[in-house]
Amino acid sequence: MEFLRYNHAMLTSQRRMNQRWLLTARPHGRAREADFTWEEIPADEPGDGQVLVRAIYLSLDPTNRIWMNEADSYLPAIGLGSVMRGGGIGMVEESLNPQFAPGDLVQGLLGWQLYVVSDGRGLSKLPNLPVPLGAHLGVFGHIGLTAYFGLLDIGRPKPGETLVVSAGAGAVGSLVGQIGKIKGLHVTGVAGSEDKCRWMRDDLRFDAVVNYRIENLGEALRRHCPEGIDIYFDNVGGRILDAALGHLAMRGRIVLCGMISQYNSDVSAPSNLTELIMQRARMEGFLCTDYAPRGAEMYRDMVAWLASGQLKFRLDVVDGLKSAPEALNRLFDGSNTGKLVVQVSDEPVDRTRGAVN
Ligand code: NDP
Repeated sequence: MEFLRYNHAMLTSQRRMNQRWLLTARPHGRAREADFTWEEIPADEPGDGQVLVRAIYLSLDPTNRIWMNEADSYLPAIGLGSVMRGGGIGMVEESLNPQFAPGDLVQGLLGWQLYVVSDGRGLSKLPNLPVPLGAHLGVFGHIGLTAYFGLLDIGRPKPGETLVVSAGAGAVGSLVGQIGKIKGLHVTGVAGSEDKCRWMRDDLRFDAVVNYRIENLGEALRRHCPEGIDIYFDNVGGRILDAALGHLAMRGRIVLCGMISQYNSDVSAPSNLTELIMQRARMEGFLCTDYAPRGAEMYRDMVAWLASGQLKFRLDVVDGLKSAPEALNRLFDGSNTGKLVVQVSDEPVDRTRGAVN
């Protein structure tokens, strides 16, 4: 009897404990920690055809806030009481699925949790690239796809044209501006602090920068783009979109990537769309997921540009899953410096195991 009790204690103590954030209230305005509930419960065990993944990095993205609303977006709304949705990178710890082996590094919608059991659908193995693991959630992940295809496919740049990019020091925007430079464009980056403006000008080599918090946007855009804006890559919406619309060149293109200034409110309306008619301009939205099948094109160029020093990126790593709700708002107050990720657990010592070569 004593022996059985001992064995049971051993088994339960070895069982993995999951930590997770559930969405338990719909936010009004910015998300607050009180909209979530923290849970520590035994992790699920994988069944036939399933894998158990331990999360290493969680991606924090502006779109997380959209997913918290009651209305469906391009994905269904997150149900109240469900694990908060989020992209992430993890390592397979147990596998009863022939397509994965323990040690594989994978990426997918792992959620705001330490452990997830999956049937493998939506999980992809990471390519083996000599970059920090978190970069697979940035320059070599959905952020890279967004910047690369948003600018090249939707913006259709021609050398010598003018490009203006908002949130220009952010994860997407900093890549857009640098790809613009590589493609021979005159690049103006808009951002919300002097530090960010300095980084865009001195390190990323943008031609011009605007601090939208202290400068008159309309005047600054007229000064930096005297012939008008050929491509406005919009990450922000609101008054920056309005200012860009008011200064479009003939046959200008507006790439609607994101509207972060609107995500915490119900308002979403540019006030001067007639400019599209006057300038015979085009405004087109897109989602990076549409371009996932063409990821290899992006990898090819990004790897070469990084190696030649033409492309730089920054990761902003927050420690610990518990910090996720609070850290999410850094995207909205502008205090993130680069792609915002949460380190959920330790990286494996051997990074190459199971990765795709
Ligand atoms: P960033 O790293 O750019 O962080 C967000 C930045 O937005 C902040 O640092 C802040 O910079 C700026 N910002 C926040 N609120 C405001 C505001 N009210 N007015 C002006 N600027 C503001 O985030 P991401 O690179 O991840 O995302 C950038 C945009 O791209 C978002 O709109 C996002 O939704 C979109 N996106 C779209 C995708 C798609 O498939 N279409 C895929 C991925 C992202 P600052 O200090 O300069 O104000």
